Amino acid sequence: MQITGSQLVNRAGNWGRHIVILGAGASIAAFPNGDANRKKIPMMNDLIAILGLELLLKRGGIKNTDRNFEDIYSELYENDPESPFLKEIEEVIYTYFDSLKLPELPTMYDHLVLSLRPKDLIATFNWDPFLFDAWNRNKNKIPTPQIVHLHGNVRLAYCPEHPVYGERGMYCPKCDREFIPSRLLYPVKIKNYANNPFIKTEWEVLKKYLRQARTLTIFGYGAPTTDKEAVNMLFAQTLYGQWVENHPLPLDANFDELLFWIRPLVDAEHVLGAEKDVV
Ligand SMILES: [Zn+2]
Repeated sequence: MQITGSQLVNRAGNWGRHIVILGAGASIAAFPNGDANRKKIPMMNDLIAILGLELLLKRGGIKNTDRNFEDIYSELYENDPESPFLKEIEEVIYTYFDSLKLPELPTMYDHLVLSLRPKDLIATFNWDPFLFDAWNRNKNKIPTPQIVHLHGNVRLAYCPEHPVYGERGMYCPKCDREFIPSRLLYPVKIKNYANNPFIKTEWEVLKKYLRQARTLTIFGYGAPTTDKEAVNMLFAQTLYGQWVENHPLPLDANFDELLFWIRPLVDAEHVLGAEKDVV
């Protein structure tokens, strides 16, 4: 027996939390033509070429730049984690990711933010700003899910003294000091999450949510050929072993049309929340 789209609205169950975990492949799938200015989204295997890091790396004594960035970075880090050369590479990467801009029309990340509820969570490994920017431009339209950035993010900053964070450039509401930009966590073999207060908190939030999760979606860790199945998986749910009818968002809709389409679902959740507020 299949649950239909209209049953989702008219017979909404009090379903538990849905956690969505996004890897680099998610941003590649969401932005196949790059950002608003057609700037490409790099992965570890083409980051050196896309960012034009070859000359810099050669200057730093790396002979073979035709390798995965992850390997080269790990190697440099093992030699000297405090090397100024490493900082120089990080600066180029930070600047590139910071320059990426969301396309104007709704993207897959807008669809994702709009299709989840406030009790849900999106955890991303990505440095790019797309998920944060999509969340930011939708957060006042309907109740949105929480997001956490497991490897830091170019848009985010935090107060080292207080458990507060927000967009880069903002000030701590408690001590009025400007937030410190979140560091990006780089691909080294042993990642020390505990050393970075911002990233440590993000992982703690994810762990807490995972303990209460009813549905878990992992998207973007597979090889590119598996992306198609993964996209379908993003909007599929298996709960109580019942299949849910495909109920996809209108992918070509503009923001007004999307909000019109999604309103009955938001209202159904709202009624449900008023009846019984289960975490
Ligand atoms: Zn503070």
